[in-house]
Amino acid sequence: MGGADPRRRIPRTDVLLADPRLKAAKDRLGPDLVRSAIRAVQQRVRAGELDSADLVADAAASLPATAGALHPVINATGVLLHTNLGRAALSAAAVEAITAAAGYVDVEYDRGTGVRGRRGAAVRDALLARVPAAKDALVVNNGAAALVLAATALATGREIVVSRGELVEIGDGFRLPDLLASTGARLREVGTTNRTNLRDYGEAIRPDTGFVLKVHPSNFTVRGFVSSVPVADLAGLGIPVVADIGSGLLAPEPMLPDEPDAESWLAAGASIVTASGDKLLGGPQAGLVLGRRELVAAMRRHPLARALRVDKLTLAGLAATLSGPPPPTAQMLHADPAQLRVRAAALAAALAERGLGADVVACDGRVGGGGAPGVPLPGWAVRLPERYAGELRAGEPCVVARVERGWCLLDLRCVPVDDEVRVRDAVLAVSVVSTDSIGAQSVSNPAPADRGPAAESATLPER
Ligand SMILES: *Cc1c(COP(=O)(O)O)cnc(C)c1O
Repeated sequence: MGGADPRRRIPRTDVLLADPRLKAAKDRLGPDLVRSAIRAVQQRVRAGELDSADLVADAAASLPATAGALHPVINATGVLLHTNLGRAALSAAAVEAITAAAGYVDVEYDRGTGVRGRRGAAVRDALLARVPAAKDALVVNNGAAALVLAATALATGREIVVSRGELVEIGDGFRLPDLLASTGARLREVGTTNRTNLRDYGEAIRPDTGFVLKVHPSNFTVRGFVSSVPVADLAGLGIPVVADIGSGLLAPEPMLPDEPDAESWLAAGASIVTASGDKLLGGPQAGLVLGRRELVAAMRRHPLARALRVDKLTLAGLAATLSGPPPPTAQMLHADPAQLRVRAAALAAALAERGLGADVVACDGRVGGGGAPGVPLPGWAVRLPERYAGELRAGEPCVVARVERGWCLLDLRCVPVDDEVRVRDAVLAVSVVSTDSIGAQSVSNPAPADRGPAAESATLPER
């Protein structure tokens, strides 16, 4: 326009990199990320989408928060262990331990004698302290790795006896039977989808049975004419019982009575319990193996164990989760509904103060991908029109809300108290942007009597 070539007005990359706002970012994030942000913005100026005067500010604003490629999000879904959002949020103690382990640490070093020390000894001790029924413990990469190692070390070339009702898909297309078969163990399926009894197992056991596998169906429930065999009965078969509890609960959790825990299943006679470290235990991604001394030792000695071993950061984070204060997962699970209602009402009031009406509605949280399928966690949410969800997701900070029956619900269960102001400001930023286009009525506050069917279905009795 005006005959001027817009490219002439675009400062060169090296000139822009010298701007103090971008130079500091270059030192922190590295030159590559800053350069690609600059290039993207230069492209927008060239395309006439952006004024070159805004180039530096826009490039700086488009830089990632860290060089780590993962974008932090605020989880306002009310789902504790959201698989898509990285499952468990770590405790401050775990984060501190991981940060401290980032440099050189005594992961395999005895500071007393100056010679090599046993890797993972502290985590093992912490696990055994929390699960007295376990005689030994081993930590691997994740729950799936724990199972694969058990099958490889204890049943390669032999049979694993498992109920047809427990051949589960754990998500993203991964199925336990495929995972187990990949180890060279043969699966011997017994019973039916809905019912398996002790005799089914007993009749399947042969001289080449490696172990009986018990899998907790952690992501679905079956109701009706169903029966499965408890660990205590399987233990009487005289064959090792490997039990996959999934969630990583170490002891019974009264709020989740159907969720098995390591201590109880070992006490009931399981030879080995496997679990995830980043589900209800609330730690970093890891796989736990707990149980009989000689079986854990066989797994530890197997060459595959070296390929599945965890790094120093996981060891540090897991130890801090086991020995430190209760992690966020435990706190969020036990969040007091009355307190959640107070927090939701405070957020709604803060929005109302700035002209944005929003209801507070009863809303059940969930444990999520980590366990307790179908168990509601009673709580409350701030309710906004559905279109807020997409804009909150696209904003900075990225707030992930729950969309239910045409509404955007902000459940504060999994939002740290310190992040509430950021959620408020993110909602207000959306309302400012969208008031022009959709009109003021969209931010009106419907009277409680006029909530409509959507609200009613999201509303539970007073609690
Ligand atoms: C989650 C889960 C797994 C897989 O654990 P990861 O830590 O995700 O590898 C295996 N079995 C059960 C029962 C589970 O719930």
